[in-house]
Amino acid sequence: MKFQSFLIKYAEIGIKGKNRYLFEDALIRQIKFALKDVEGSFNVTKATGRIYVNAESDYDYEEVMEALKRVFGIAWICPVVQLADEGFEVLKEKVLEYIDNVYENKNFTFKVESRRSRKNYPMVSQEINMELGAAILDAFEGTKVDVHHPEVLLRIEVREQFINVYSKEIQGPGGMPIGTNGKAMLLLSGGIDSPVAGYMIAKRGVTIEATYFHAPPYTSERAKQKVVDLAKLVAKYSGPIKLNIVNFTDIQLYIYEKCPHDELTIIMRRYMMKIAEHLAKESGAIGLITGESIGQVASQTLQSLAATNEVCTLPVYRPLIGFDKQEIVEIAEKINTYETSIQPYEDCCTIFVAKHPVTKPNINVIKASEQRLNERIEELMKIAIETVEVIECK
Ligand code: ATP
Ligand code: MG
Repeated sequence: MKFQSFLIKYAEIGIKGKNRYLFEDALIRQIKFALKDVEGSFNVTKATGRIYVNAESDYDYEEVMEALKRVFGIAWICPVVQLADEGFEVLKEKVLEYIDNVYENKNFTFKVESRRSRKNYPMVSQEINMELGAAILDAFEGTKVDVHHPEVLLRIEVREQFINVYSKEIQGPGGMPIGTNGKAMLLLSGGIDSPVAGYMIAKRGVTIEATYFHAPPYTSERAKQKVVDLAKLVAKYSGPIKLNIVNFTDIQLYIYEKCPHDELTIIMRRYMMKIAEHLAKESGAIGLITGESIGQVASQTLQSLAATNEVCTLPVYRPLIGFDKQEIVEIAEKINTYETSIQPYEDCCTIFVAKHPVTKPNINVIKASEQRLNERIEELMKIAIETVEVIECK
């Protein structure tokens, strides 16, 4: 069956009142962007509260579907067959052909729902419904009409230029189009959680930038490549991600040298947040994102989170805060980051990790320990920020 068009239905952006067109335009931009690398030529148009993706050449159905399923803001994708008006008898024939092709198993209940925006069509909607319904019942033995809860809702739209026929709705990712909700800085490690956290915030329309703390030679080039790979996977949904790679080695070694080892992780995380916030502000991001979840590890108890949070002035978004690991893994699998995340390359926090890290850090104690860093920490942070390597991930 050849679908010439895809009708895009959106949910939440429909309720944005006067700003609705901004959301629609952002959605159109994101759809065009997603289709840029898909073979074929497509025209994306807006018509009376709807968005259509029209194919202007041959294309691969699966490839288009895969691309559209990653565009936030899309609730449903309906592949549409567009027919020229060649009289009702031809329409009937084509509709039967449609059913025959699209539904292998013909045991289903259905309803025909037609609409005419072209009012001079010789039949009214009710007649079209009845005639087509009768033709389907006649042609396919297992079919039955159910006007209340049909398994197949066949829609016929008589428009100026075409007659649209569709009945399939494929679920999109939901959320809001990227670019409608500002920018935030994701602290992206090579783990399972942070790519999922980035995905979830991007899903709400937020543009994502990322920062990774690298500690060569304690963390390898391969560990860094893994983070680049993860950023590219998240970018399939979020659009291009600017990834800042911070060389954190000297700061880590300095903390290791000066501070109690059981406080190492917390102090390190505070410096990560400070540097990420600095980079965020430099690039106009107005929030930070982490993959933290309460109680997952020593550095994520409420006390530890409070201690980490204390250095930030920007809001920190932690979309996984109430999720169990298994729930996070399920999303990671769905968005295809899991396999990459579990590759066994060390991340910088595990190298310097203490045997018995504090689980209930006291902020005053931590601050007192940090006093021991006064001599060089400002300089080391400045160097780390000045030597950031930027990789555009898409
Ligand atoms: P993840 O699976 O995201 O690595 P995790 O369970 O390993 O999470 P932690 O190592 O405690 O948790 O890190 C908590 C959060 O801090 C991460 O989700 C991430 O947002 C950030 N983070 C940790 N290490 C790094 C790093 N090397 N670079 C950038 N961000 C980091
Ligand atoms: Mg980690």
